[in-house]
Amino acid sequence: MVRVGILALQGDVAEHRRALTAAGAVAVAVRRPGDLHGVDALVLPGGESTTVSMLLASSGLAGPLAEAVRGGMPVFGTCAGMILLAAAAEDARPDQRLLGAIDLRVRRNGYGRQAQSFECDLAVDGVGGDPVHAVFIRAPVVVAVGPGVEVLSRLPGGPVPGTAGSPVVCRQGPVLVTAFHPELTADVRVHRLFLSMVPASGGAGTAGPGPARPGADPPSGTGVPAVAGT
Ligand code: GLN
Repeated sequence: MVRVGILALQGDVAEHRRALTAAGAVAVAVRRPGDLHGVDALVLPGGESTTVSMLLASSGLAGPLAEAVRGGMPVFGTCAGMILLAAAAEDARPDQRLLGAIDLRVRRNGYGRQAQSFECDLAVDGVGGDPVHAVFIRAPVVVAVGPGVEVLSRLPGGPVPGTAGSPVVCRQGPVLVTAFHPELTADVRVHRLFLSMVPASGGAGTAGPGPARPGADPPSGTGVPAVAGT
C-alpha cells in the first residue's frame, strides 16, 4: 500500500490523513527528517506559509524536504502548501522558503482576507463525475503559469471580482497543487487523483511532462521569475 507522509508542522493534518486513508493509502505524519524514510509521496497541507517556512527551518526538515522533492517524490500541496511548492510568491516575506517544484507564480491571500473566503463547484480534469465542491480560505491566486504546467481546473466566474478563470488546480510532473482545501469535504477524488500519480500505488507515476525527475533541477526561468516577495 502506498505510504504518504503529511507535513505535520501546522495545518489540516488530521483531515488529510482521513482523506488519504479513505482513498486507500497509509498516511504518516512528518515532523522531523527521519520521518521521511519509507515515504512514497508527500502532502503539504494548508496553514500559514510564513509560519510553515519558519518551522521547516527549526525542525531541520527544510533541506531533506527540498531534496526529496528535487529527487522527484510525488507531492501534493493545498493552499499554503501550494505556495511552498511554487517558484515565486508575491506578498510574501523576503525570506519565505519556496521549493520551486512547480512553475507557478502565486499571490498570497490574493482572493482577499478571511471574510472573503468562499466555496464553489469546480470541474477538475482527471476527476470524473460531479463537480468538486471546493473550499477556499485566504487562498493564493495563481498569477503566472509556466509552459510545463497543466491547468486542471479554473475558477468559474463569480465569487471574487477579477478572478474568473484563475487556475486553481495545477500539475507539473509529480507535483499537484490546489488553491483550495479538498481535505475539508468528504469527497476524496482529488486525493485519489494524487495517488494515481504515485508509482508505488500502481498509478501512472511521473510519466507526464515535468522536470522533477531524479537528478533534475527544479523548474526555473521558464516564464516565472524565481523570486519571493515584492
Ligand atoms: N493565506 C495563507 C498563506 O498565505 C494560506 C491559507 C491556507 O492555507 N488556508 O500561507
